[in-house]
Amino acid sequence: MKPEQQALLRKLPGVDYVLNLWEQEQPAQQAPRPVVVQAIRSALGKLRATIMATDETLDEALLSDTQLLHLTETALKNAMNFKLKRVINATGVVVHTNLGRSLLPEGVARHVAELSGRYSNLEFDLEQGARGSRYSHVEDILCEISGAEAAMVVNNNAGAVFLSLETLAKGKEVIVSRGELVEIGGSFRIPDVMARSGARLVEVGTTNRTHLADYERAIRNETALLLKVHTSNYSVVGFTAEVSLKDLVALGGKYHLPVMKDLGSGNFVALSKYSLLKEPTVQETVATGADVVSFSGDKMLGGPQAGIIVGRKDTIEGIKQNPINRALRIDKMTLAALEATLHLYRDEAQALSAIPTLRMLTMPAKVILTKARRLLNRLRKLGNNQLKAVLVKTSSRVGGGALPLQELPTKCVGVTIEGLSASRIEQIMREATPPVVGHIEDDLFLMDVRTIQDEEIPMIASAFKKMLEEQ
Ligand SMILES: *Cc1c(COP(=O)(O)O)cnc(C)c1O
Repeated sequence: MKPEQQALLRKLPGVDYVLNLWEQEQPAQQAPRPVVVQAIRSALGKLRATIMATDETLDEALLSDTQLLHLTETALKNAMNFKLKRVINATGVVVHTNLGRSLLPEGVARHVAELSGRYSNLEFDLEQGARGSRYSHVEDILCEISGAEAAMVVNNNAGAVFLSLETLAKGKEVIVSRGELVEIGGSFRIPDVMARSGARLVEVGTTNRTHLADYERAIRNETALLLKVHTSNYSVVGFTAEVSLKDLVALGGKYHLPVMKDLGSGNFVALSKYSLLKEPTVQETVATGADVVSFSGDKMLGGPQAGIIVGRKDTIEGIKQNPINRALRIDKMTLAALEATLHLYRDEAQALSAIPTLRMLTMPAKVILTKARRLLNRLRKLGNNQLKAVLVKTSSRVGGGALPLQELPTKCVGVTIEGLSASRIEQIMREATPPVVGHIEDDLFLMDVRTIQDEEIPMIASAFKKMLEEQ
């Protein structure tokens, strides 16, 4: 450390000094004292880090009262704001796990807000006047839509897989193809979940080819379950062979073994009708006769985070009885959101227009172009010659570990600003209110309009306006 840096560090005031200063300047307290103290600590910490990290000669003004108050104010604002906040998704990744996966349909979000601020019949049977089951509210509609005999819901699909394995195969063996030992982002790995559930994994076949005989040869007294996992976030192509769920169900029938399919991102609508790649629907999967089918509520389904389990009555009943179920149970907000989302699926056209995830996945090229032009015009209307905005053709992605090979042709608005690097623009937009998350390609800051909601276009323009003013 240089002597100048050491000298400055010695001059750094203590918390009490700044607190005193703050209380003199801000007699009207807007924040509880402990929060102010914490904000001052954080401001001083930042200042210390700045001094240590800077090679150039530092100005003593860095430690002026005005500067200390300013830093405290910023830190306090930060502390008083909610950490979890709305973000504008300009990445073009529709089911973006880091940005909250699916947006709840408008009416669904309203329903959740209404129900969660009030008492409800969550676990109360209004007809009998007795205790009811929280799951009963979605079981019937899940069976109605999927065609399954029985249904249940837990916290997420990872929980659904774990609970199913723990119930059906603890201390026993589960046969899985080597081509299906998937890892989903966020450390969900089939072999690890299996180990934790107490079931023993028996791998069969090879990475690219697995045959029915491979499964059959591995069946022993200890076998409790045949499991198929949807390879949702990758694809094995070329010289490949996999056993269809239908054939596996037949094999299970021959040896009296239950068969489970982890569908990953389950969808009720055959999206291949809307020019997306073919994925098995929940209905098709249930129709194969599989005993257990599990999938997420917030991937392509477009609802709240949940793990949905549908299948045969006796098997699902067994899973429901597992005491671990209680630890994975969903709360009333999720339940309200899930029931209301499922209602939309009674009419496919309605589902496609009302569920944002489906709407964005099937958005016509014309709508995308119109939206891109609207954003482009807004930016040009800022009338600043330093800002250049252009339309760029790229591809959006489904995300959520679904349809990894799907190309979704889209339009991005690309922005350059004289005197600012693309990465600086990206950072300023990320720190805007609300934050705008885009990406950089070839030194251009890109915003994919597919995932930008209509009312967000003016917000993006305001963020750029502010950026230009402050530059
Ligand atoms: C996403 C996924 C999971 C995990 O689902 P969550 O709802 O995120 O817990 C499990 N299995 C597969 C195949 C998946 O794609």
